[in-house]
Amino acid sequence: MQTKMVSLILAVAFLFQLSPLGRIGAHSVATIGGPAPHSAAIPAPEEVLGFVPGDDRKLASWNQVVEYFTALAKASDRVNFETLGRTTMDRPFVLATISAPENLARLNDYKNIQDQLADPRKLGPPGVRDRKAAELIKRGKTIVLITCGIHSTEVGSYLSSMLIAHRLASSDAPEIQRVLRNTIILLVPSLNPDGVDIVKNWYDKTLGTPYEGTEPPELYHKYTGHDNNRDWYAFTQVETQITVDKIHNVWHPQIVHDIHQQGEFGSRLFLPPYMQPVEPNVPKQIVAGYTELGNFIAHEMRAQGFKGITTNSTYDAWSPARAYSHYHGGVRILSETASCKIATPITVMFDQLRKGEGYDPRRESASFGPVWRGGEWHLRDITRHMTTAAFLLLRHAAENREEWLSRFYEIGKEAVRPRRSGELWGYAVIQPEKGSSYFESLLEGMLGRGLVDIVHARGDLPFVASGVSYPQGTALIPLNQPYGAFAKALLETQHYPNLRDASGHPIAPYDVTAHTLPLLMNVNVKPVLSPFKYPRSGNEGFGGGTGGTSYSKDSTPPRYGLYKSYVPAIDEGWTRWVLEQSHRRFVSLADNEFRTRDLGAKFNAIIIPDQLPRTILNGFKAGAMPPEYTGGLGQEGVKALREFVEQGGTLVCLNRASNFAIEEFKLPIRDVVADVPERDFFVPGSILRIELDTSDPLARGMPMETIAWVEDSPVFEVIKTGHVDPPNVRVIARYPLDKNPLLSGWLLGGNRLKGKAALVEVTIGKGRVILFGFRPQYRGQSMATYPLFFNAISGK
Ligand SMILES: [Zn+2]
Repeated sequence: MQTKMVSLILAVAFLFQLSPLGRIGAHSVATIGGPAPHSAAIPAPEEVLGFVPGDDRKLASWNQVVEYFTALAKASDRVNFETLGRTTMDRPFVLATISAPENLARLNDYKNIQDQLADPRKLGPPGVRDRKAAELIKRGKTIVLITCGIHSTEVGSYLSSMLIAHRLASSDAPEIQRVLRNTIILLVPSLNPDGVDIVKNWYDKTLGTPYEGTEPPELYHKYTGHDNNRDWYAFTQVETQITVDKIHNVWHPQIVHDIHQQGEFGSRLFLPPYMQPVEPNVPKQIVAGYTELGNFIAHEMRAQGFKGITTNSTYDAWSPARAYSHYHGGVRILSETASCKIATPITVMFDQLRKGEGYDPRRESASFGPVWRGGEWHLRDITRHMTTAAFLLLRHAAENREEWLSRFYEIGKEAVRPRRSGELWGYAVIQPEKGSSYFESLLEGMLGRGLVDIVHARGDLPFVASGVSYPQGTALIPLNQPYGAFAKALLETQHYPNLRDASGHPIAPYDVTAHTLPLLMNVNVKPVLSPFKYPRSGNEGFGGGTGGTSYSKDSTPPRYGLYKSYVPAIDEGWTRWVLEQSHRRFVSLADNEFRTRDLGAKFNAIIIPDQLPRTILNGFKAGAMPPEYTGGLGQEGVKALREFVEQGGTLVCLNRASNFAIEEFKLPIRDVVADVPERDFFVPGSILRIELDTSDPLARGMPMETIAWVEDSPVFEVIKTGHVDPPNVRVIARYPLDKNPLLSGWLLGGNRLKGKAALVEVTIGKGRVILFGFRPQYRGQSMATYPLFFNAISGK
């Protein structure tokens, strides 16, 4: 019902967009009785929502947001509004394009300008490019993409999107006119519309109860939760695919403003520059751009009296998973405003303020200040920070239009320049001699979606480079192309710097440290160190993405149970996604189902995804959430699981969940890094090497050596009985004794891994417990180890 209503509203809006009568009608209201402000006919958000965005305890539904933008586009000749696709849970994914009416009438011209500046090869031979570019830069507009609401509990930004759009549509102030003339603003009210309603429904349900302001007991994106902002190179989810295919790749924005919220007790606002490290393939012009723009906004806001602003702290620029634009000619301006409790105000005492990475909110410093003394913190404070920062960003984009376009062209020029002798020329993706080329084509699909040109070697083309003859079917990826750096970042090995604070403690990356796709996907990719010729074919039209897979369906589908805690676990969402993508039938099991079901009669295997053992066992504390969501598996659940295994079931535990099984079932296994401090052992999301016992059924179809995605992972040692390993324990994977376990990323204290176990099976009664000391299905990316996971759940 809800979706039908939205389509109807959109259909009506669409008619109005096209109909000159609609426009004249709207404008005639403003002009009756002589000159009236432009705003007279433009609806304010409160006219549609019934409240002003930012009011305490008020959230808009996704329907209301769509309704508001529809009404705004109908009334204003500065706003286009369209539906780009459907979300995971079938809501409309929408975009508002906002600019001066004369710019909106010529959007295709501006797309063309962007297209040519992004790829200077399109401007003709090198000798004429600069002159042609200068002419385009004179005419072009700064393209600004503003994205809101990817993290749905950070409610300030989707609410602010309506305030931003209303001001742009209604104000005749000179600074707004300048913004409209000089920029084209692509405004995404939410990158995760499903989450808007998940959070609003929970918030409204708990409003006025002791649980008001708590986060919902489910992921706010069906599969990825908070990881929806870690999907900008794997492109697994439809929301990422729509944003990349229909906005980024169409417009190549120079500036992407991604509006977020952070914790309650740190700085009031973070702005770039980012702290170190910056991923080495991010162009220097991008670093210069986000430094200049972030510092400008911070400076202007401080001058207006805003307090508690930090720059150059907390957030790094390492993972391409969070920054598509950094490899596509645009700066990403992340802003992070302090949160309240969803829409419920809080009071923060000065003493409650806590240090972040690179600043102390109670002390003025080069990266922080002036100090905020504490006090009440309302949703209105959040929307005020967000809208102020957004309009300063737009001011900079408008006032420095030619500089932004020049910088954008310089990035493209550097990207396409011919490589010199001694430089890396490209990569070759080698097809396996036998077996499927499925992972190769999947990898090429990811790069293709990122607009990387890929050429396949054929009999009539030279594919000998550096004295190596590449077999027919080899995919060649030259680096001298607009988005060559995107390919390089994803194909090479990461060497994360050994960052320590003053006391020698390792500084954790904001996200993870490795993103080497050939390792994650077990694809043979070789660097090419000498020139090779290839025909300019343009993009070969990949973009099928990474959605469907070609895994064979189980012929007799076994029955799987997937544990789903009320404390949302992102790995649970990813596991569900991987199972669905591979057509494996399963059901999700909440805590109470372990008390009411005869597990053995229903399931062959039960999977517990990565989650802290104490959270699995205890869940939310009593009083923290409505009673039906508290308590975790509890001792009753442990008993039911034990009976399930003893009677012949398979329990598969992923990563930290393995320690839950070790502790609760008293398994003869020890996690040797459990109590080791981070300065002595640290693997914050890296790709390590493991060796497999390929004679074991669990390693069926696997090579002798493979990878492990290691992040907060246990490292196993079998506890001997006397001098021998207990007979009910089998080790299937170990870290190498004589090789460096690190393949990509960052590893401290690697010696502690030597010869230790990474995948173990323990027999109990008629069944078994399988312990993964890593994440075999990490974010839908670590396909190299999917077979281990599928073998584990498929039973004997
Ligand atoms: Zn966020």
